[in-house]
Amino acid sequence: MRGPVFGAAARCRWARRGRAAGAGAGAGAAPGAAPPAGGAGGLDRRGDWRALPEAEVRGRAGAALLALRGGRALLERRGGAAGGRLGLATVPLASLEAAPAGAGLAGPLLLLGAWAAGAPAGSGQAPPPLFAAEVGPDFEPEGGGAEFEWHGARAAFADLGDLAPAELEALALGHGLNEWHRRTRFCSRCGEPVVPGGNGHFVRCATCGAQDYPRSDPCAIVLMYCGDWALLGRKAAWPPGRYSTLAGFTEMAESLEASALREVWEESGVRGDPAGLRFLRTQPWPFPRSLMAAFEARAPPAAPDAEAEAETEALNRAGVPAGAHEPTLQACVACEEELEDVRWFHRRWLNEAMGGVAGAAGARLESSTREVAPGVPFRFPGQGAVSRELMDGWRAAAPPATPLDALSDAVLCPGRQKYILVLVEDPASGSGKLVVRGLAAAAYHMDVFQHFFGGDAQLDLPAGLRARAVGGGRIEHDPTRAQARIFGFSYAYGRAPHTAAAKALRKEFPFLEVETSDEGY
Ligand SMILES: [Zn+2]
Repeated sequence: MRGPVFGAAARCRWARRGRAAGAGAGAGAAPGAAPPAGGAGGLDRRGDWRALPEAEVRGRAGAALLALRGGRALLERRGGAAGGRLGLATVPLASLEAAPAGAGLAGPLLLLGAWAAGAPAGSGQAPPPLFAAEVGPDFEPEGGGAEFEWHGARAAFADLGDLAPAELEALALGHGLNEWHRRTRFCSRCGEPVVPGGNGHFVRCATCGAQDYPRSDPCAIVLMYCGDWALLGRKAAWPPGRYSTLAGFTEMAESLEASALREVWEESGVRGDPAGLRFLRTQPWPFPRSLMAAFEARAPPAAPDAEAEAETEALNRAGVPAGAHEPTLQACVACEEELEDVRWFHRRWLNEAMGGVAGAAGARLESSTREVAPGVPFRFPGQGAVSRELMDGWRAAAPPATPLDALSDAVLCPGRQKYILVLVEDPASGSGKLVVRGLAAAAYHMDVFQHFFGGDAQLDLPAGLRARAVGGGRIEHDPTRAQARIFGFSYAYGRAPHTAAAKALRKEFPFLEVETSDEGY
C-alpha cells in the first residue's frame, strides 16, 4: 500500500480549451496592481469629453501624452539619480505638433481623461486632458536624457512597484485601449475597415456604420484552502520559485463563481465547495484585457478511503484529540498545459516563508528565506497584487497563535533513520499537535524520544507542554532528490500511522515528495 505522491506533474486529464489564465492571471501573468484610485486626485475619466471633437480636447491648456511604443510605456525617474522613483512621463501634446514623420504620433489619440497631476499645484487650473498614443520609432521626449526610461507596460504595472494608483490606472487604460485598437482593424459585422471614434473609446465601420467598444474578459483568481492548507501553483514562465493563487477565464454564459471552481479543478484536480466561496474584490488586468475577480474558496477534504479511516482509528486509539488530526487533502496534480507545479502549503509554513502578515511595502515580487530547491528561494506576489491580498487575508484569518505553533512540524536527518510520531499537548487549552522527529544516530525509538523530549531537551518544549510518542517507524530521506519514504514500525511505541507522519512532513517540507509504505523494517 502506497500513499499518494503529492505535487508530481502529470499529463492533464481534464477538458482543455484554447486559452486559460493559469496561476496568477492573464497568460502567465503576475498578478496586477492595487485598485485604482478612481477620479479622486488622479484620473477623472470624463466620459463627456469623449463626445467632443478631438481638436477641441487636445487644444486645451496643458494637454499631455502618455507615450507608448511597442508594448512599452515612457516613464521618468523622479528625485534624480538611480535611487529615484519612476513615474509616468507626460509629454506636452503640443510638442509633437511639428514632429517629423517617425518622431510623432503613430496611432490614434486615446483620451484617458482629466489628469489632476497635470495642473500645477495651487494654480487653481482645471486638470488638463491626458491622452495615450503609440509614437513613432524616432520619437524623443522633450528634454530627452537620462531621466526618461521605456519600460514594458505589463512589468511597470505588475512588478515595478513604483507607480502611484492613479498612474497605474492611466497606464492600464492607455495600454489596454492601444492594444485594442492595434487588434481591431476590421468591422466584426461586415469585415470592412474601421476608424476610431469617441476620442479612442470605440471604432466605427466606415462602410456599415456599426460601432464596436473595448471589452474586458472576466477571470477568476482563487485562493483554494482546506483547513490550514492553501493550494498554490506556478507557471513555467515565472521567475524560479514564484508561487501564486490559481486563476482562469470565465467562459460565455458562465458565472464568475462557477468559473472560479472550474478553473481550479481543471488546473489542479481539486474540487471546491460552492457553499464555501467568498468574493473579495476585482482587479483590472489589461494584458491584454482581463478583469480579475478574487475569491477565497473552501475545498472539502478528500473522501475518506480505507487508509484515511485507518489513520483516524489509530489516532483515536492513541488518544490524539480531534483537533490534532490533519485533514486528508484532495490530491492535486498540475495540468501540464497550464502549470508547472501545484501543491498544498500549510499556513504555518507560509507564515514563516512570507513573514509578518503586513509584509514589506513596495516590492511587487518578494523572496523568502525558505527554499523550493537548493539555492531557489520561495517567491510570492508583492504588495498590491490581489493574489497577495488573498494570501495575506487567509493567513491573517487564522485562530490566535498558541505555544504549539512554535514547534517544528518535523525534524529529519538525511538518509535512513528511526522516527517517532509525537503528540505534543497544551493542557491549558486542550489543543494538541502531531510532530515527527527522526534521528539517524538512534539505536532505539526510545532514544529518539529521549533526544528530543527527554532530560534537558525538555527545555526545548515550550513551558507547560507535554510530549508523548504515539508510534514510530523508519524514514528514508533523500534531501538531494527531495524524497522521503516512511515505513516500518517501532517495538516500543507501535507502528505510527504513517499517513499522519506524512502530513507532518508535508507541513514542514512542502517540496518533499513523501511516500508511505508497509514494506520493510
Ligand atoms: Zn461594417
